[in-house]
Amino acid sequence: MKTIRSIKEMKDTIHQLKRSGQSIGFVPTMGYLHEGHGALIDHAHKDADIVIVSIFVNPLQFGENEDFDNYPRNEQKDKTFVENKQVDYLFIPTADQMYPTSMGLTMVAEKRIGVLCDRSRPGHFGGVLTVLTKLFHIIEPNYVFFGSKDAQQVAIVDLLIKDFNFPISLKMVATVRDSDGLAKSSRNTNLLDHEREEAPQLHQALQLARNKIIDGEKNPVNIVNEVKDHITKKTSGQIDYVEILSFPELEIVSEWDRTIIIALAVQFSHARLIDNIIIDNRGEPVDSLY
Ligand code: AMP
Repeated sequence: MKTIRSIKEMKDTIHQLKRSGQSIGFVPTMGYLHEGHGALIDHAHKDADIVIVSIFVNPLQFGENEDFDNYPRNEQKDKTFVENKQVDYLFIPTADQMYPTSMGLTMVAEKRIGVLCDRSRPGHFGGVLTVLTKLFHIIEPNYVFFGSKDAQQVAIVDLLIKDFNFPISLKMVATVRDSDGLAKSSRNTNLLDHEREEAPQLHQALQLARNKIIDGEKNPVNIVNEVKDHITKKTSGQIDYVEILSFPELEIVSEWDRTIIIALAVQFSHARLIDNIIIDNRGEPVDSLY
C-alpha cells in the first residue's frame, strides 16, 4: 500500500492507472477508521481493480461550534487498518493543498436539503459537496462507496453525480453496527461511559418504529412520537430530530407505497450521533439507492 499526500502525485498515479485500463473504487473518509469504513473497502474490492481510500477531515463541512478540533484522529492506526484491508492507495491531502486560498466558489444543493441534518448543520452539505467535487476530479473514480448511515449524504451525492455528469457509479453500503446495535461511528469514542451504554437505544427506537409499520401503523406522526418517547425515556441525549421521509428524495411522505427513511440525530455531551433505517412499505430493509 502506498500513502500519497500530494494532489499532483495522486493525479499522476491515477493517469498511469487509467492508461493501464484499471478501474478505480474510491472510499472517501475522515479517518479514525472502523469496520463501517471496512465494509465500504470490502465492497470496493468486489467492484474495482484498484481501491483508494482518502482521509481528510474537511474543515469546510464543520460549523463554527462543531467538533472539528475534537474530531478523533489517529493516522498510524488508520494506516495499519487500510494495509490489513489490502487498500492500494491511501490519499491524505493537507488542508493547505485542498484549500490553498479561501474558496471563491463552493457548491450548494438545491434539493434534498432543508430536512434532517441540513436543518441543524447549515452549510455542512455544501462543504461535503465542495470537497467531494474536488476529490472526484483528483481521483476520477469509476465507483464511489458511501455508507447508508449518512443517508442524506448519499442522497445529495446522488444529485452531484447526476446533475454534474460525473461518470461515476454510486454504491450505498448498509450500516455496520456493534453487537448491541449501535451504529459504528468515529464519534462513538467521544461518548461518556453511561452514554455509550444508552446509545444502542437509538437503534432500538428505530426497530420499534419498523415493528409499528409491520403491524400496520400508517401515521408518520404516531411513529415519530413513539421513537421520540423511547429515546427520551431511555437516554440522556437531547433529540435533534426524528423524521420520516421518502428516500432518496427526502420529501414528506403521505402514502406508504414507497421506500422511506426513518432518521434521527441525538446530541450527547460530546458527540452528536445519527442513525436511520431505510425500509419499503412492508418494513423490509432496502439496501440499494434505487
Ligand atoms: P466518515 O469517515 O465518518 O466521514 O465516513 C466515511 C464513510 O464511511 C461515509 O460514507 C460513511 O457513511 C461511512 N460509514 C461511517 N460509519 C459507517 C457504518 N457504521 N457503516 C457503514 N458505513 C459507515
